[in-house]
Amino acid sequence: MVPNITPENGNSTDHSNHLNDEWTTSQLGFGTRAIHVGQEPDSATGAVIPPISLSTTFKQTAIGIHKGYEYSRASNPTRNAFEETVASLENGKYGIAFSSGSAVTSTIVISIGTGNHIISVNDVYGGSYRYFKRVANTQGIEVTFIDFLDPQDIESAFKENTKLVWVETPTNPTLRIVDIHAISIIAHKHNAILVVDNTFMSPYFQNPLELGADIVIHSVTKYINGHSDVIMGVAIMNDIEIYQKLRFLQNSTGAVPSPFDSWLASRGLKTLHLRMEKHQENAMAIAKFLEKSDKVIEVIYPGLESHKQHKLAKKQAKGFGGMLSFKIKGGYEEANLFLQSTKLFTLAESLGGVESLAEHPARMTHASLTEEHRIAVGVTDNLIRLSVGIEDIKDLLADIEQALNIAVQ
Ligand SMILES: *Cc1c(COP(=O)(O)O)cnc(C)c1O
Repeated sequence: MVPNITPENGNSTDHSNHLNDEWTTSQLGFGTRAIHVGQEPDSATGAVIPPISLSTTFKQTAIGIHKGYEYSRASNPTRNAFEETVASLENGKYGIAFSSGSAVTSTIVISIGTGNHIISVNDVYGGSYRYFKRVANTQGIEVTFIDFLDPQDIESAFKENTKLVWVETPTNPTLRIVDIHAISIIAHKHNAILVVDNTFMSPYFQNPLELGADIVIHSVTKYINGHSDVIMGVAIMNDIEIYQKLRFLQNSTGAVPSPFDSWLASRGLKTLHLRMEKHQENAMAIAKFLEKSDKVIEVIYPGLESHKQHKLAKKQAKGFGGMLSFKIKGGYEEANLFLQSTKLFTLAESLGGVESLAEHPARMTHASLTEEHRIAVGVTDNLIRLSVGIEDIKDLLADIEQALNIAVQ
């Protein structure tokens, strides 16, 4: 029997001739799964890299009899392959790939229905904040933003109608750490679903489902694709009811990625483990360099022992990632001069690509925050965020040094 792949029953495909019982995928290491799970050679031609499946529609041999695919918005082989790989890497059962990380956010938010309430960490991705504040609020969904530093603080924020708790950790751009396990216990006590945006850590360094999260989401645009050439998102979960609901909403709203983008993201995943190691190694070296500089007031990187939550970061994640922020000595002028003076770090929004980027959160990624909110979460005018790439570290350090020398006299 050909397995029936529909929005109702998941991504299951017949891989019996490849990774069989003796090689259960759960025993395989991260890199092996990234390369093999969902990425079997094409059964029709033997092509080692499965072809991109562009067809929008699929032949039925009799009414309702088909090979598991009917129409590509509902289900597509190239997209399913990506979903299967990424679900395996998050140690989850189901993956749903979306047209962007933001489409994941909006789909999860509308799934709770109007008249309900969300508790979100206050230091959330600027686009998520904008969606909560300016879209969800107009649709009758209320969002409370709070500081999750002490998990007990969120207790008092719960209401009768609280359906979701929204966590990002490390937060963006001030890289605070939220205790996922502690928050999951409180959320579940109140029958709320815990969503963790795991974009900054990637599945390589952190697996929130294992810490008690119900849904883990990623902007695939960042580390998972890793080459700054795809906008895409993904949600991973173990609960079949949540899966079916989100898949139904995705098919209904049409928030699907293209087969070509899905294929590029699968290609990106195959080197995720190598890239993350290098991102982290470079970020650590830069963090240590900046810590010693007299042109820098503060360095925020979870891998530094000076990070206030270094211990928690170590406990819940396998690494610290490639993102770091620092406060340059001075204010907006110095930050601007630094950002104009780098030669390898490109002044641009986004993160997680092989190339190094630098940006000014207050005027760029977090410009949609109110002034008051921005100050409250520490997004000051002298704060600079780096997405450390995988170039040679000596060149990155030289670039930062010369830019600091220009910016701070
Ligand atoms: C970029 C990003 C998003 C949004 O993803 P898009 O793919 O840009 O829509 C959500 N969360 C985090 C942490 C991000 O960095």
